Amino acid sequence: MFADVIVDINNVEVDRIFEYSFQGCQVKTGSRVAVPFGNKVIEGIVIGIKENSVFPLEKIKPILRVLEETPALTEETLALMEFVCKTCYVTRAAALRLFLPSEMRKGKVKEQFVRFVSIKHGLQINEILDNLRKSAIKQIELVKYLFDNGKSTFTSLSDKFGSSALNSLVKKGYAEISEEKFFRSPYKNLDTVKKDVELTPRQNLAINSIVKTDKTVSLIFGVTGSGKTEVYLNLINKTIEEGKTAIMLVPEIALTPQMLKQLRARFGDNAAILHSGLSVGERFDEWWRLRNGEARIAIGARSAIYAPVENLGLIIIDEEHDGSYTSESSPRYSTVNVAKFRAEFNNAKLVLGSATPSVESYLKAQNGEYNLVELPDRINKRPLPTVEIADMRKEIRRGNNSPFSSILKVELDECLSRGNQTIIFLNQRGYSKTVICTECGHVQKCDACDVSLTYHKEDDALLCHYCGAKYKMITACTECGSPFIRYGGTGTERVVAELQKLYPKARILRMDRDTTQNKEGHFKILSSFSAREADILVGTQMIAKGHDFPFVTLVGILDADMSLHFSDYRSSERTFQLLTQVAGRSGRAQEAGKVVLQTYSPDNPVLRYAINYDYENFFKQEISIRKATAFPPFTDVVRILISGEDEEKTLAVTKNVYDDLSVVYNLNKDKFRFFGCMKAPLKRLQNKFRFQVLMRINAEDKNLLDEIFTRADKHKTRLISVYMEVNSNNLT
Ligand code: ADP
Ligand code: ZN
Ligand code: ZN
Repeated sequence: MFADVIVDINNVEVDRIFEYSFQGCQVKTGSRVAVPFGNKVIEGIVIGIKENSVFPLEKIKPILRVLEETPALTEETLALMEFVCKTCYVTRAAALRLFLPSEMRKGKVKEQFVRFVSIKHGLQINEILDNLRKSAIKQIELVKYLFDNGKSTFTSLSDKFGSSALNSLVKKGYAEISEEKFFRSPYKNLDTVKKDVELTPRQNLAINSIVKTDKTVSLIFGVTGSGKTEVYLNLINKTIEEGKTAIMLVPEIALTPQMLKQLRARFGDNAAILHSGLSVGERFDEWWRLRNGEARIAIGARSAIYAPVENLGLIIIDEEHDGSYTSESSPRYSTVNVAKFRAEFNNAKLVLGSATPSVESYLKAQNGEYNLVELPDRINKRPLPTVEIADMRKEIRRGNNSPFSSILKVELDECLSRGNQTIIFLNQRGYSKTVICTECGHVQKCDACDVSLTYHKEDDALLCHYCGAKYKMITACTECGSPFIRYGGTGTERVVAELQKLYPKARILRMDRDTTQNKEGHFKILSSFSAREADILVGTQMIAKGHDFPFVTLVGILDADMSLHFSDYRSSERTFQLLTQVAGRSGRAQEAGKVVLQTYSPDNPVLRYAINYDYENFFKQEISIRKATAFPPFTDVVRILISGEDEEKTLAVTKNVYDDLSVVYNLNKDKFRFFGCMKAPLKRLQNKFRFQVLMRINAEDKNLLDEIFTRADKHKTRLISVYMEVNSNNLT
């Protein structure tokens, strides 16, 4: 017999199918195998089996070994591999790596076994004791212990009674050792309190609508605190009862324990968790529990979309709008697209949930492609928190240079004195490079693209990341002439220090990249805050989403407008989402919540929509801007990134790519909204010079995308890489 094998080398030159021969029936489609390759032995995946080969027999080498009895991959994963290759423009080997825990490849991690000791079957306690010398005290104690407690682990017994007593009992044949597979299970000590809630009529309507619809995708548009989680849990329950499996995704690893808690409370060991924060062994064991069908619910962040479950009935993507669902490193897949593929393949349902759907998704819901399900009210009709705007321009004029406005201070006093909790949120992503006037709040933008410019220190200039235009750095505001120009805002550490000065007795926690380095760092900070061990939590994006803290009645948002000026066409959308999410953390239980939003541009319409929770009108405005400026979802932003160590050669390749693509451009001018060639915003990275060809083309013209890829791809060489990205989150 012959097998088609993909070898685990991520290189275009070997991105082909190789044939190997084998005998016996151990080799199956999806098996991981060891094969000879050149003069080495490497790992590969069998993607097909056949009786005949087209090659002469003497040229075909044999498979050396099958690495696991159960094939690691299924028919579905193999189809998914082809899908990822085609849509992300990567090799098969690169796509395959998404499906297997990385440590499993190259055999770095194995199953773990534990040794147990028990009394030999059928022996009575007296038979043994009669035969032991009276002086063998440890052995006698050990025998009694085993009769009282039954089978115990070897290590626990040798700790208690010493290994020599243990070994001699085994030697004499009174006790025996057995090995059992040990599951390394993450988050062992999660408390799992099951809340018994009666569904609201709205929640029931939502569930029925999702069960009945014949559309693959349902979008739940439900305000923060509207009880979406309960809807998810019910849908999962129905799926499991039908004998199918489910995948539940949340946007951040920090949110997985909270969800796991709820899943374990209902489904026990049926839930398995998959994310990169687990230890190698834990991930390996959880992965196999899912692969073997011992666990039928996978929970995790983005990468859990590749969970090895069969007979999939349901995929849930919570906070579907979140940027983290688009991978930022190769392969740059969109989780929603992969989920759609899996849902269609399995005839399963895909449920997207959000209080602030992405404009792409909401447009699809309006066009009838998605089933739209609404949960417009908070549970028990609790009001959404009221939002007050603090105008930071006025604060600065009054001489207030602290990070906190006077309104926020008043609210903080009040909140602390009542013993409630506060969240202080810093908007910290990518903002340090936008240029903002502290007098009038004006932000420098590109004339052609209407996105914020980014300051580049090396050439002291402002750059547009969408068209490459370069502007002189300003010394005074172009709007009001003020010389008070600022980049970015304050860091979390300074905020904590200032708060501590104002409130020496307050207990303050900080959550950001620095304080969450280790594995369960997120979890510890959040649990501690949740247990009311602190009064104030200061943090960045990580604290914005999903968390349910019942005693938080105040949320302060510093620099609300910073992400508004992020140099990305999605910055309005991101800001609206972020503000709604953060505000949603306040007033979730008995007491009403408040939000203080500090800004330099209090009249900005996006902020206005956000404080009124007016998604519909925000959406209308945003979608018309996207249409007018020709940005997604109306176009695809395509970038070909060319990089290499030799600047001249890289530039030469760039010119060739550009010339070659100009042919496509000239034949399809009506489909192009932008076509240009320039240095990448980050001109040099890891010793490589970077150039790019940027395009915006009419959306979803897959043939055109493929043609662009094929033409560009031909130009890559061993030293110069040519890489294509579509709608990437990050165009640096
Ligand atoms: P969302 O995910 O939409 O923000 P959650 O699912 O976190 O909202 O629900 C908000 C709060 O309401 C949670 O504390 C949850 O336990 C509670 N809750 C949800 N559904 C019900 C219900 N039917 N009855 C009572 N409380 C509920
Ligand atoms: Zn100004
Ligand atoms: Zn521009």
